Amino acid sequence: MSDIEKLYEALRKLQEPKGYYFNKDKTKASEVIEALVANKERYGYMSCPCRLASGDRESDRDIICPCAYREADVKEYGTCFCNLYSSEEWNEGKVPHVYVPDRRPPEKVRF
Ligand code: SF4
Repeated sequence: MSDIEKLYEALRKLQEPKGYYFNKDKTKASEVIEALVANKERYGYMSCPCRLASGDRESDRDIICPCAYREADVKEYGTCFCNLYSSEEWNEGKVPHVYVPDRRPPEKVRF
């Protein structure tokens, strides 16, 4: 089992009881997990791969996976901004798959 697969399994066991399921497209989920691992190596923490991190843990606290916006996004859209974590209904296609807008406040986004 590769490190990515091990992390996939560990996170799955931790998150499913909380009602968060990985995207059933395992290739897509594994790609996001791989990017999370790359960010951990780069910044020292698993910042969201779909957002630009500052490199400062405190400033990026809200986008450390699972981010502060996951709960509201999964509740409203059935999936998080990166489409990594989803509800069972989203995975089963019972809710429409729409674009999830970034909920992060603009003042937190620095370029
Ligand atoms: S959007 Fe999804 S993948 Fe990105 S940090 Fe939030 S929960 Fe993790």
